[in-house]
Amino acid sequence: MAGAKALFTSIQIIPHFGNADIGGYDIYWNVEARGFNPTFTVEVADTESGPVWKSLTPAAITDNFLLDASERVMTFDPLRWFRVNVFNGSTLVATSSSVDNRNRLDHRDYLYYRELLRRWRLQLIKYVGEPGYLFRRRVFGKICSQCTDEILKQPASSECQICFGVGIEHGYFPEVEMLAEWLNGPPRQAPTTLESSGPSQVDKKAIFLFPVPDVKFLDIWMDKGTGYRYEVEKVEIPETDTYRGSPVRQKVELSRLPPNHPVYNIPLTHA
Ligand SMILES: [Zn+2]
Repeated sequence: MAGAKALFTSIQIIPHFGNADIGGYDIYWNVEARGFNPTFTVEVADTESGPVWKSLTPAAITDNFLLDASERVMTFDPLRWFRVNVFNGSTLVATSSSVDNRNRLDHRDYLYYRELLRRWRLQLIKYVGEPGYLFRRRVFGKICSQCTDEILKQPASSECQICFGVGIEHGYFPEVEMLAEWLNGPPRQAPTTLESSGPSQVDKKAIFLFPVPDVKFLDIWMDKGTGYRYEVEKVEIPETDTYRGSPVRQKVELSRLPPNHPVYNIPLTHA
């Protein structure tokens, strides 16, 4: 397709914590791209400007993150720079700016930041975390031809089994399993008789999550225990949940969707 354009809106590097795992990274990015199916490659270099960029992705990937990218280095103070390329087929459309693995923190701050992430993750695993799934809403990809009509400007149908009303094929990315700390406690399954009676009450909740993947407005959260699915109303990273500008945890406000809502048809890919 001629004139394909893409704009990177974020790129985030999260280091792994284990001593045995130094040099492992999770990399997430967001891109604005409409009308084509973008694929990505991730590259690494020793300095911000390269000059030699080594590919971390043997083949182009379709999701907007790369987990367990390993760039193992044995020096005491490793600093690596990453960038992401977006392709339309075999044509390079755009390259992100280069981002270093320390989130622009100096070495001491970086170690402290990593320690805060490690502790929060441990707290989730050992004490407060309830398992759930995040379905990230697609913002790029092929327009759903099942329910949308670009010429008639017909909006996507929420009943659509292909895109679930998002208007882009598949609607959401495959789920990511995450642990959530529920403000005021996790949800409890209501007896089915109560569930089906009368006009549904608005059920709003808030959860705290690890900072990646970063949750967005209108993403879907599924609580594993109850199977309840929620729409994301708001995402906040309070100042107190950051360290020198880098996120340590994110607060996500949720609104529960009624059991007949189409998003309950989104399949679990990995479960
Ligand atoms: Zn559709």
